[in-house]
This record gives sequence, C-alpha cells and structure tokens, in this order.
Amino acid sequence: MDQSELRNSRRKFIQALGLASVGLSTVSLFSGFNIFDSYTEEESVKRVQREKANGKLGIALVGLGGYAGGQLAPALYHTSNCYLAGIVTGTPEKAEKWKKQYGIPSANIYDYSSYEKIKSNPDIDIIYVVLPNSMHAEYVIKAAEAGKHVICEKPMAITVADCDKMIAACKKAKRNLGVGYRLNYDPYNLEMARLGQNNVYGKLTKLSAGYGFNAQKGIWRLDKTMAGGGPLMDVGIYCIQAFCYVTGQVPIAVTAQEGPKTDPERFPTVEQSLTWQFEMPSGLKAEGQASYSEGFNFLKAEAERGTFEIGPAFNYNGMRGKTTEGTLTFPTVNQQARQMDDFSLSLMKGRLSRVPGEMGRRDVMLLQSIYEAMRSGQRIAIKG
Ligand code: NAD
Repeated sequence: MDQSELRNSRRKFIQALGLASVGLSTVSLFSGFNIFDSYTEEESVKRVQREKANGKLGIALVGLGGYAGGQLAPALYHTSNCYLAGIVTGTPEKAEKWKKQYGIPSANIYDYSSYEKIKSNPDIDIIYVVLPNSMHAEYVIKAAEAGKHVICEKPMAITVADCDKMIAACKKAKRNLGVGYRLNYDPYNLEMARLGQNNVYGKLTKLSAGYGFNAQKGIWRLDKTMAGGGPLMDVGIYCIQAFCYVTGQVPIAVTAQEGPKTDPERFPTVEQSLTWQFEMPSGLKAEGQASYSEGFNFLKAEAERGTFEIGPAFNYNGMRGKTTEGTLTFPTVNQQARQMDDFSLSLMKGRLSRVPGEMGRRDVMLLQSIYEAMRSGQRIAIKG
C-alpha cells in the first residue's frame, strides 16, 4: 500500500467512525495522534479530479469561521452531489491548514483580493458565502458576476434592498441563489410543517417559538453594522422560518417589544432580547422571542384537537419532540449535507432550490417589519 492508499483507507476509517463530522474539539481527544489527513498537492489535485469524474459539483466556501469550519466543511465529507473544491480566506495560516486537511489544490485557494479570479476556475461550480451578515450582499453579487451559483448564509442580507440586488445579480447571470436554511432538511422541523400545514390536529390555535443563547461580548454579532441587528437577525430568524413553514402562510401584521437591557455594556448597538407577535392571514397569532442573554430553543403548536412541539427545535442535531399522541422520533441526519446536496441536485435537474433567494428576501422583509414594530411601538401591517 503506498502513502496515498494508506491515507485513503485511514480517511474511510475516520468517516466510518463518524468523526469527520464532529469537529476538531472531539478529535483533539486523541492528543498526539494526528488522525486528520495531510494531503500533498498531487493528492489534492487527484482528489478534485476524482470528485469531478464522479459527477459532483465543486463548492468553494467563503469565510472560514466557526460555521464553515465546524459544520459545513465536515458535512462535505457526507455529500453525494457536491464536494469541497475551494476556499476563500483572508488568513494565510487558515489557507495552509485547510489545504492540507481537506486536500484543496493551491489553484483553488483565493483571498479576498483575488476572489474575482474564481470566474475562470472550472473546479468551482457553487460559491457558499459564510461571512458576517453585512458582507453577504457584496460577496454573493461578485459570485454571480463570476458566473457561479451561490448559497448564502442566513440572514440573506441586512436590508431588503440588498436582497433585491443579490437576486437581480443572480438572475442577470442566470445563476441560482439558495439560502443556508438547513432546518428545511431536518426531519423534526419537516414533521412540524407536515402536522401544521395538513391540520392533522385540526386548525392551529396558537404558535410559539423562541431561540436564545448567551452571546460573548465583543463579537461581530453584537455590532449592528456587521450583523444588521441582534438576536432577532441571528436566531430569531429560525422562529420566523418556522412560523412560515408550520402554517404555510406569510404573516400580515406584527407587534414587537425590545426586552430590558440588563447588560448595556455588552449590547451598545443591538437589542439584548426581543419578543414579537405575528398575525397570520388565518387570524392565528404566532409569538416569537429571541435573546442574547438567555438560553431557550423551542417550537410549539397548539391546535383544536392537540398539540405538537419540538425542543430543542433549531439545533444541528439532538432534537426531541412530542405530540398529543406521543414522542416524535426520527433518525439523526446531517442537515448541512442534505441542504448542500439538494442545492446541487436542483442545479443538476434544472429546478429552483427549495430555499431560494426569494425566501431569504421574504425573511429579511419580516425581520425589518419586526424592528419597525419594535421601534414604533405600533402594529405594523406587512406589505410584502
Ligand atoms: P464567525 O465569526 O465564526 O466567522 C466569520 C468568518 O468571516 C471568519 O472566518 C472571519 O475571518 C471572516 N471575516 C472576513 N471578513 C470579516 C470581517 N470584516 N469581520 C469579521 N469576520 C470577517 O461567524 P460564523 O458563526 O461562521 O457565521 C458566519 C455566517 O454564517 C453568518 O451569516 C451566520 O449568521 C451564519 N451562520 C449560520 C448558521 C446556520 O446554522 N445556518 C450557523 C452559524 C452561523
């Protein structure tokens, strides 16, 4: 067995253990034992050739932060229709590390000043933008102009005007735009949508959802210029999505209240917490809450003949759920792998993504309506 074969068999062994998807922290338990690969340039080039020959589409991740490194890159070990072909990073040390760890040829590594050159790279079919929220618009538009299909992380942008520009750029380039809405591929959330949209327990009478965690001081998420807002933009968006997919409707009006700032030093520019109430076209009330200082994570539906709920509702895994009739149990899936595979398949089949740019725009419009209601203290009619 030569070096390359040895690495391949070790890689398969790691994947079989499922360790490739759990991230570096768990892997570091094996201290002193470098179980991750160290690809040579030649092996990286061969890897890309092999993936292409298998008919997979090449993805380039832009912004190698917590989500790209902790979830998306490991998920790309588990995809059937796409693979990690390239990276865009402003940090040379990260480029070096990722190159060796994931087998990325030097020609597929870009920094922000060489980003546009990705246009002439046939290995890259899809650009996945995983940057802070305020940077999404610029990098999605440039990706479309480079002739690439694009996946953009949530929230799609920080203004509706930016969403419009992103959608227009993709339309003009005849390229597809999808949003990183992984929960549209999660069996627990899909079941909530099925139960709600089909009135399985009768007409819905109340819907509530909340997502909050304790955010660390000083991160870009707490800077309004970078994030566009506080916990509503970051995690409240999951509740907004859930209200839409559980009802199959888009809200028509909203009221909202900012929570007290018990830690004003930590939150100089964004809300610490927020609650809001949507009116759905059916008359149903949907109550949401988002926080950067308290932990919660739930989605609950009440209907004429029963209730159904999940909690945690919005995690990467470990979801639990129950209905009036008993426990909900579904197999663990890799949400991100499913999401990226489905986007790739939509390109192969010439259909729209299940989570297109238009959906991302709708949600940014809803986020902005909530902020308008919060600031004005008024009931805001949602215009669409
Ligand atoms: P992060 O802070 O961990 O990573 C951000 C990356 O952007 C870093 O690599 C950083 O170096 C890079 N960057 C480039 N220019 C920057 C600048 N001017 N300021 C700050 N960082 C800069 O953030 P993250 O958690 O990976 O989030 C990135 C995006 O992914 C966000 O839009 C977030 O909402 C989204 N996200 C989605 C999910 C999900 O489940 N779908 C989960 C986490 C994050």
